[in-house]
Parts: sequence; C-alpha cells; structure tokens
Amino acid sequence: MIEFKNITKTYGGTKAVDNMSLVIEDGEFVCFIGTSGSGKTTSMRMINRMVRPNDGQILIDGKDIRELNEVNLRRQIGYVIQQVGLMPHMNIYENITMVPKLLKWDEEKMRETASYLMKRVDLPESLFEQYPSELSGGMQQRIGVIRALAADQNIILMDEPFGALDPITRDSLQRLVKRLQMELNKTIVFVTHDMDEALNMADKIVVMDHGKVIQVGSPKEILMNPANDFVKDLIGEDRLNQAIFEYETVESIMRKPISINENRTIAQAARLMSETKVDDILVVNDDNLLVGRIDMRALSRRSKPEEKVSTIMKQVTYITEKTSIRDAIYYVQDLSHRNISVVDEAGHLKGIVTRGDIVESVYDAFWNDYEPLFEEDEVQLDYEKVSGAIEQAQNGGDDA
Ligand code: ADP
Ligand code: MG
Repeated sequence: MIEFKNITKTYGGTKAVDNMSLVIEDGEFVCFIGTSGSGKTTSMRMINRMVRPNDGQILIDGKDIRELNEVNLRRQIGYVIQQVGLMPHMNIYENITMVPKLLKWDEEKMRETASYLMKRVDLPESLFEQYPSELSGGMQQRIGVIRALAADQNIILMDEPFGALDPITRDSLQRLVKRLQMELNKTIVFVTHDMDEALNMADKIVVMDHGKVIQVGSPKEILMNPANDFVKDLIGEDRLNQAIFEYETVESIMRKPISINENRTIAQAARLMSETKVDDILVVNDDNLLVGRIDMRALSRRSKPEEKVSTIMKQVTYITEKTSIRDAIYYVQDLSHRNISVVDEAGHLKGIVTRGDIVESVYDAFWNDYEPLFEEDEVQLDYEKVSGAIEQAQNGGDDA
C-alpha cells in the first residue's frame, strides 16, 4: 500500500502539489489525470523519491519512505517514461533484461523471467537474438511492455508512456498492460491526460487540478458522479451521456407490465387486451414467474375462448433488472423486438421496456437541453408576418 499524507511540493512560490492525501492499494491500477501542469508527474515522482516533498509523508507498506534506503527504494519501483525506445544496439534479450542485469540477477533467473514474459505476450523466444529494427513495430511495442515488467517490481510508475503513439497501437498496448497488470498483480501508478486511457485502464482515477486532488473514484463513480464542472469538462459531455447507458440499468426506465395468469382463459386475455389496448401481454404463473406471452395473432387463430392462456402462449425474451440501458438498446434495436420484459434474478416479472421508453431515454440523455445554435433553426412561424408577406406579394402581383 502506498499512502500520501498531506503532501505538498512547492517550486518557488507555487504549489506544484497541494496537500495531497491518497491511498493506493496493492494490485491497484491508479491513473492520475488532469490538465498539463496540474501536478501529476510531480506527485508520481515523489513515490520513488525522485522529488522530495516540502511537507507531508509518503508511506509504503506503512513505512515512511524517507527512512528507506534510497537505492533499495528505487529498485523496488519500476519507472517508465516512454514505452518503446528499445536500445537499437542491444538485442531483444538484452533489452528485456536491462534492469534485472543492473540489479545483478543471476543469468538463470533472468532467462526464466524473460522466457515467461515472452510467452505472456505470444512472442517466440527465437526473437531473443534479434535486434529491435528486425521486428515489426507492434512486436517492438510488446517487448517494450514486458521490459517494464521484467525486473518484477511490485510497483510500477508510468508517466504518459503511450503519449506519442497512434490511437490503434495505443489501444492495444493499453489492453496488454492492463491484462498483464491483473495477471501479475502489479500496483501501477499511471499518469495520463487522456480520459479514455484513464477510463480504460484504471481501477481508481485521481483527478488533479492546480496541485490539488479534486476527485478520487472508480471510472464508474467518476462518470456517474463527477465532483464539479472541472471534472465534467474533463470527461466531456459525450462520455457522460454514454455512461448513463452503460451504467444505468433498465430498472430506471421500465414500466409496469400488463400480465395475465397462465390459468386464465383466452377470453379473459382477449378482454384484457381490449381494455388496456395492449396487444402483446405477458403470462405469469401463480408465483409471478414469467412463463410466456400472448399476442393478437395467437388470439385470432381458431382457439377456443374457454381454454387456458397457457395452451396458446409463446416463448418470451427477457432481460434482468440489472441489464444496462445500452444492452437493452441492442435487444430492442438490433434484435428488433418491439419491447422486452424485465425479470428479477429469480425470474419474477418486474416490468417491461418498450422501444418508446428507450427512445425517450436516449432523447433525454442527448437532446434534453439542446438549444438551437442559431435562431433560424427554430421552427417558428410568425403567422402575422407570414400572412402579411403573402398579402403583400399578392398586392404587388396585382399592381404589376
Ligand atoms: P503535470 O505532470 O500534471 O503536467 P507537473 O507535475 O510536471 O505537472 O508540474 C506541476 C507544476 O509544477 C507545474 O506548474 C510545473 O511548471 C511545476 N514544476 C514541475 N517541476 C518543476 C521544477 N523542477 N522546477 C520548477 N517548477 C516545476
Ligand atoms: Mg507530467
């Protein structure tokens, strides 16, 4: 565990980091995010004592890092500035084992670790003797990632390591680093100014502004409850809207279903349909478990009115209350259901979500506070003006 306790770092008169307190758990992926100059790099570099705070304490596993041997501390912590930048004159094996060699690991352990990591990223050991320039760009990137992990440090600091990469490479490396971090249970502190990167990778996001920690939370917490307008701006409106669909469940938009017990008769179902003007009703058993549905077509077939509903009901598709609105959109849209029923974990009927409900929630999220950019966009007919103009045109025509 890494603990920042009231850490302040001043340069000249300005506070690069201002009274920062934070807990980073073992195995956690923490992203520091904020605009340029907000104190991200400074905060990170205090963890391995590359920068000394003016005030406060940093503890690693309960020990004040000032009391630890500086060399040992640095060995315990990996530090990555730029992911690629493999040494061109060293072969792949030498590149991967660069730090372990500095740490004076024995040859066998280095070999084992390098082989293990190559397997983790699906590269053959035959590449060991080759030089970076002989490898494809993608392979070089993967080597760069495992080099960061090769010294087997529990804590790894990464300062905008993917900053210079194109979006596709960046995306695949983010995934790779995240996967390896989880598999190898590393604690990673990662600085970025890219919100997508933070949302993709972090267990915990630390939003910084002017040296202050503005908000700490999981991606979900940050997206669903941004602390203030600064955080909102950093996330951006599109992501905030998308988040609603990802994290909000259909529970919030479902409506009361029209349902009938399976032991009722077809005649009763027909009456219910005509009374409610709903032509597609759900069938439940005595325990309110969803068992089927019936619609107009079922009724119009030559079925006997006194027979039980259960004799003509059809299969029904359903989702649970915990289904995200995004997934519900998929079912209703792409699988072209007009509506979809909602059940709890045990299968009890809870509600129904119609296409209309979904359209409404999409509208609310994206268009609710839409204001036309130009007044002309507003469809507004000034009847007096219009009729006046028509009259004028007609008169003009007469005169001519
Ligand atoms: P970030 O990584 O969020 O872009 P930094 O932590 O690098 O921000 O910088 C935070 C603030 O501290 C900035 O205003 C920066 O100019 C200042 N700063 C950082 N390092 C130094 C330094 N060595 N000397 C003077 N000012 C510094
Ligand atoms: Mg920085």
